[in-house]
Amino acid sequence: MRGQDDLLHRGIGMTSQRTRERLIARLVEEGICNSQVLEVIRKTPRHLFVDEALAHRAYEDTALPIGNNQTISQPYMVARMSELLLAAGPLDKVLEIGTGSGYQTAVLSQLVERVFSVERIKGLQDRAKERMQGLNLRNVVFRWGDGWEGWPALAPYNGIIVTAVAADVPQALLDQLAPGGRLVIPVGAGDVQQLLLIIREEHGYARHTLGAVRFVPLLNGPLA
Ligand code: SAH
Repeated sequence: MRGQDDLLHRGIGMTSQRTRERLIARLVEEGICNSQVLEVIRKTPRHLFVDEALAHRAYEDTALPIGNNQTISQPYMVARMSELLLAAGPLDKVLEIGTGSGYQTAVLSQLVERVFSVERIKGLQDRAKERMQGLNLRNVVFRWGDGWEGWPALAPYNGIIVTAVAADVPQALLDQLAPGGRLVIPVGAGDVQQLLLIIREEHGYARHTLGAVRFVPLLNGPLA
């Protein structure tokens, strides 16, 4: 069924070109202004990070289910968190907690030197890895484990991003932040969640609250 496959891909290609531009325009309207971030989102094929049945919705500015009760983050949130991480200049080592589909991972990998990504659900991690290989994004290392612990062996990190919400900031992540390093993390419970930017200073941490958000919970322990 080669012909049909080609048609399908062309179909997705045509819709996505127009809808991708529309998505970028929307992100700009919503206040995203880092042109590097916008360019990377424009060229990253989000439809490859969701089920084929949802591919036609991939360029809507919305979270979508990816199985295992998890969601691919909303493009606006991916853009905003990336922009916050990068706001003080280029980053070499970034730790990501919550690989999920790998979409945020793929975006980050095109903006920083190296990404270290931790996911607790093995099946999601395996699929994210395949996608990264398919897109030839080679500067990402994956770990199957519990994000509450961070990834101590490779610390410190200049940036840490967490894409699931907890009641408190995990202490391990604060410890693994390099001096001057930036941690972007949602904190709260249920409907009451806030995005935080925490910057490690010479003595202590500066904490900025950046508005209401909605994420799935940061759970405990790895899951096969
Ligand atoms: N950025 C991802 C978002 C995935 S949703 C994307 O755009 O696809 C949040 C992810 O965090 C889920 O995949 C979930 O399994 C993972 N997660 C939740 N608790 C975790 C923990 N303690 N350690 C590692 N990953 C965790």
